[in-house]
Amino acid sequence: MAVDFGLRGQVAIVTGSTSGIGHALANALAAQGVNIVLNGLGEMTAIEKTRGDMAKAHGVEVLYHGADMTKPGEIADMVTSAKAEFGRLDILVNNAGVQHVAPVDEFPTDKWDQIIAINLTSAFHAAKAAIPIMKAQGHGRIVNIASAHGLVASPFKSAYVASKHGVIGLTKTIALEVAQAGITANAICPGYVKTPLVEAQIADQAKARGLTEDEVMKTVILAAQPTKQFVTFEQLAGLLLYLVSEAGASVNGASLSVDGGWTAE
Ligand code: NAD
Repeated sequence: MAVDFGLRGQVAIVTGSTSGIGHALANALAAQGVNIVLNGLGEMTAIEKTRGDMAKAHGVEVLYHGADMTKPGEIADMVTSAKAEFGRLDILVNNAGVQHVAPVDEFPTDKWDQIIAINLTSAFHAAKAAIPIMKAQGHGRIVNIASAHGLVASPFKSAYVASKHGVIGLTKTIALEVAQAGITANAICPGYVKTPLVEAQIADQAKARGLTEDEVMKTVILAAQPTKQFVTFEQLAGLLLYLVSEAGASVNGASLSVDGGWTAE
């Protein structure tokens, strides 16, 4: 039987949950009886199917809010709508994120602005709107999905690395401000996770380098990850569920690596 983290009846917003890690984390929360606000881009028919499937599989309420993470007003509306619909908001997972790879001197300025807005500033706007609700409840959990790139850099990922380092700074600051209000704020720092985004990169790199997909995974994508294994959705969900449970109440302001040892080097 699955572990019960004592979350039944709680309410969570997971940004960027129409795909990849966000979808998996939302699903893991739903499986614990948490009502969910999904968010993210995508085709409405597919999103509606994701929403319906999650609600049916876990017997919880699942709503969708299409807030664009570059738009502060829409982010605030997502948070106030969650409270209006469910009467509370216990968990905020700031997960939406995008990447662009180019040297700094060639990095498109609009891409820099977009990455900082989606990966970093959206977490500020969502937390700003969520904290008063959580304070009034005397309970809340903010979990920001940073990255190994919140702790170390790689070339050609300036905006991503800067945004993820920023997320860790934001997380620590929020943690100090809410420490006596029954709220915690932490960052999860995944290494490489095999999301659709990364899968596409494997196929492209294999073609470009004349390698098999297995060779690309081990020697290119997972070069920095000592286990030479992708981090799984389940491993990230396990940490998230711990952090948002009562057992995680004293973990605050932490940046927790789930990277197979990448940042130990
Ligand atoms: P993904 O592309 O599969 O999912 C990203 C999600 O963000 C999607 O739901 C997308 O619709 C949403 N999104 C993008 N722009 C948006 C916008 N303007 N408004 C609202 N939603 C928007 O990517 P993923 O790999 O699942 O990444 C999720 C998070 O995990 C990101 O913050 C990423 O930086 C982080 N991360 C991923 C990896 C990895 O290896 N995949 C590693 C470390 C950290």
